[in-house]
Amino acid sequence: MQGNLWKVVAGTTKRNLKYNQRIITLLQGRAYSTTHDADIVVIGSGPGGYVAAIKAAQLGMKTVCIEKNPTLGGTCLNVGCIPSKALLNNSHYYHMAHSGDLASRGIEVSGVTLNLVSLMGQKEKAVKALTGGIVQLFKKNKVTLVNGHGKITGVNQVTALKEDGSTEVVNTKNILIATGSEVTPFPGIEVDEEQIVSSTGALSLKEVPKRLIVIGAGVIGVELGSVWSRLGSEVTAVEFMPSIGGIGIDGEVAKTFQRILQKQGLNFKLSTKVTGATKEGGVIKVNIEDAKDSEKKETLECEVLLVCVGRRPYTHNLGLEELGIEKDQRGRIPVNSVFQTVIPNIYAIGDCIHGPMLAHKAEDEGIVCVEGILGGPVHIDYNCVPSVIYTHPEVGWVGKSEEDLKSEGVEYKVGKFPFAANSRAKTNNETDGFVKVLADKATDRILGTHIIGPSAGELINEAVLAQEYGASSEDVGRVCHAHPTCAEALREANVASYFGKPINF
Ligand SMILES: Cc1cc2nc3c(=O)[nH]c(=O)nc-3n(C[C@H](O)[C@H](O)[C@H](O)COP(=O)(O)OP(=O)(O)OC[C@H]3O[C@@H](n4cnc5c(N)ncnc54)[C@H](O)[C@@H]3O)c2cc1C
Repeated sequence: MQGNLWKVVAGTTKRNLKYNQRIITLLQGRAYSTTHDADIVVIGSGPGGYVAAIKAAQLGMKTVCIEKNPTLGGTCLNVGCIPSKALLNNSHYYHMAHSGDLASRGIEVSGVTLNLVSLMGQKEKAVKALTGGIVQLFKKNKVTLVNGHGKITGVNQVTALKEDGSTEVVNTKNILIATGSEVTPFPGIEVDEEQIVSSTGALSLKEVPKRLIVIGAGVIGVELGSVWSRLGSEVTAVEFMPSIGGIGIDGEVAKTFQRILQKQGLNFKLSTKVTGATKEGGVIKVNIEDAKDSEKKETLECEVLLVCVGRRPYTHNLGLEELGIEKDQRGRIPVNSVFQTVIPNIYAIGDCIHGPMLAHKAEDEGIVCVEGILGGPVHIDYNCVPSVIYTHPEVGWVGKSEEDLKSEGVEYKVGKFPFAANSRAKTNNETDGFVKVLADKATDRILGTHIIGPSAGELINEAVLAQEYGASSEDVGRVCHAHPTCAEALREANVASYFGKPINF
């Protein structure tokens, strides 16, 4: 080893000094590296990776999970689903107290003030508990955790590159890539996570900005826009598309959603593109123009600009190129129906492959991928992966939208039921929204369910179950539902689809 080091040092010229220094660090690391033998190495501990690792260990595989971050749980637990939902939940309580909603229910509170530090503290507590929970789950299930940047250094080898320059080599039968995604940058606008923030910075602002502009009115944009609007910001979302809510949302739901959020105080500039932004002292000037008519220009001002134009797969320094695993045009790792890359014992799941970037999609892929490695069946019906927007009211959907069915030429029928006619929603004074069921005209098989209203994120799971099992709208319409619950609105929409009209409307 020393000989190798000297050879590298002897060959050092100014041009390749940096490269050689890296090699030296690597060789030094190898000299002190430890090795494991594993059945599977999972790279990444997000919802895809950690769930896959636990499942693999439960199925008897000797499992190692390599994570580069100090905490487990990936985007979802650290800077995604969990912190955003903590802020959405608590900002909703603040808004209820502050806006007079509680007073309208006979609960009069005075002197309501926002303690942003405590609000953030509760979010951090939730994140800490959940990320720490994975460490315990790994111990309980005998998953070996290795800290470091996982690089595939051979078809049967992953090397964890540590911050101190040392390495840990794991020899393994199978490799599962679950390295997730990162924020997509906006060309020409540099994120500083203070004034110009990504979703990560927007989860930890130190004060409530007077004005917040959000680039992108997709799921994350409207969720984080809602948080800061409830806490007192004047929020404007600029969106290139003509509607809000992102890909897959039903057009009718999107319109209702926009109307409700506007009533809550959010402003939208749709079919509009951002062309640039400049910081001038404490103010950011954001240049926008009509998506169809570049003559129509405007400059908006804000104290904080949130760039929320999507996420892209993260596969940095993974060793893919060296192995001949080519990425597709969108930077995703191509896999077959059992999640194999072009190298049969190297698999990939979650945000770094095709499909919706959702935590539950990554989890399900992790589980069936591992089962498949051991000879089990591998099947996911992506049409049955639900989407939820956790605003108030929530939006949830699964399956086809009306726009999908029209473009596919499928004959369908619609069953609708408004929450204004649902006894539980009325009791709780949360009557905005409706349930819409789309079923095949000839067979009555449910093709899609779209909910905007109270607890839509919970209700949608019943629709997912029905759709997974190929239920008809008659099936769901004839199932006894507890009273009074918002789920009765889902039943009624199915009744409307099958019988032509609901009972209570
Ligand atoms: C603000 C926000 C809110 C969201 N809300 C929701 C929601 O409500 N519901 C939902 O379903 N989805 C939500 N998402 C999306 C969700 O977070 C992702 O779809 C999900 O985390 C993807 O899981 P994953 O396991 O594929 O990847 P990730 O969660 O991104 O995890 C990948 C992990 O791999 C690690 N890693 C990467 N490269 C290496 C390497 N070479 N070596 C070692 N470790 C590595 C990373 O550090 C990370 O821990 C949200 C995202 C954001 C940003």
